[in-house]
Amino acid sequence: MFTINDNFTLLPSSYLFSEVAARIKAYSESHPDAEIIRMGIGDVTRPLCPAVIDALHKAVDDESAMDTFHGYGPEQGYEFLASKIAAHDYRDRGIDIGEDEIFISDGAKSDTGNIGDILSTANRIAVTDPVYPVYVDTNVMAGRGGHLLPDGHWSKIEYLPCTQENGFVPDLPATAPDIIYLCYPNNPTGTVLDRAALTMWVEYCRKNGCLLLFDAAYEAFVRTPGIPRSIYEIDGAREVAIEFRSFSKTAGFTGIRLGYTVVPKELKGLDNNGNMVRLNPLWRRRQTTKFNGASYITQRGAEALYTPDGQSQSRETVDYYLGNAAVMLDGLRHAGYSCVGGTDSPYIWLKAADGMSSWEFFDHLLDRYHIVGTPGSGFGPAGEGYFRLTAFNTRENTIKAIERLKS
Ligand code: PLP
Repeated sequence: MFTINDNFTLLPSSYLFSEVAARIKAYSESHPDAEIIRMGIGDVTRPLCPAVIDALHKAVDDESAMDTFHGYGPEQGYEFLASKIAAHDYRDRGIDIGEDEIFISDGAKSDTGNIGDILSTANRIAVTDPVYPVYVDTNVMAGRGGHLLPDGHWSKIEYLPCTQENGFVPDLPATAPDIIYLCYPNNPTGTVLDRAALTMWVEYCRKNGCLLLFDAAYEAFVRTPGIPRSIYEIDGAREVAIEFRSFSKTAGFTGIRLGYTVVPKELKGLDNNGNMVRLNPLWRRRQTTKFNGASYITQRGAEALYTPDGQSQSRETVDYYLGNAAVMLDGLRHAGYSCVGGTDSPYIWLKAADGMSSWEFFDHLLDRYHIVGTPGSGFGPAGEGYFRLTAFNTRENTIKAIERLKS
């Protein structure tokens, strides 16, 4: 009889958002008149911008004619898009990244989850707590988690707490892990790290031979001058860091799917024989074997983001969400909540009222104000007592929700 990957059975069965959905469903059924405002899941609400829509239509037409039809494309993405990413997202900002270091994919969730394929299961990983759950769960699936402890941590993973006490800034690890995941602007806390903090992490990784997996899915939300949008703005990062990016939150691609991962050529890891091996060809090999490329149509849509119209229209959308976040921050603080995030991020992280647990606060907001958020404890034990609200709803609903809270 065949056997399964036992690691999957170690994972708790309920995914955070399924539990949230189940509680909303139960509440709606018993309160059919409640007008619930959802500020929980991090999906966008604004449509794709006109420049992207035009490009998507044109790409659909390309597929209708013999001489412009595109079937399988390059697994790592079309050159027409990779060249624009390298130029606009990096070189124009003084960052040295080549087209052959960019791997276009169907999104950052897949890439942050799949990157473990090219890394030994013996590596010890470190994550912030709270954390985007995909990093932890995919490592548990690969056997890097150990077992689940009563406190909600995995035995083999090092957690770097981010709480009010340390200003939500993680301290350097105590046990020299091999791989460190950082996500900035952060999901779920909405905080950012400045250049000095990121430099400290890059230096730590260089000194200790660690790989830094840097998730920059929310880089477009950075507005504070001097806050890096890419880890490669930090000297020496090319030798230690992989960067993940997404068109989901920056351009509304959550439904049509597109992202990319940067694997610099200098980045090397040890093989079993003690040789230093480049990760760029390993990731290329992984992608060409297991992935058949993002769709031509989607990549043409993303290409339009790099035109002047695409740039201004997508910035306008991000500004809209940041405007929501400003309304939320102001209202929440006015209502007496202690919160962080929301200035360079679509997320606001607040302390649950009156010492409530995260889930108690979830039920309280739903029942009293008909507002849905995400319990902080779902992102890790250090998130207990906190709550995440997102700025992705409409302005109208955001204002309505905040007015309810203020009253
Ligand atoms: N990384 C972080 C930190 C996220 O919050 C999300 C989505 O919420 C993703 C990655 C997933 O991005 P994508 O839609 O590109 O898969």
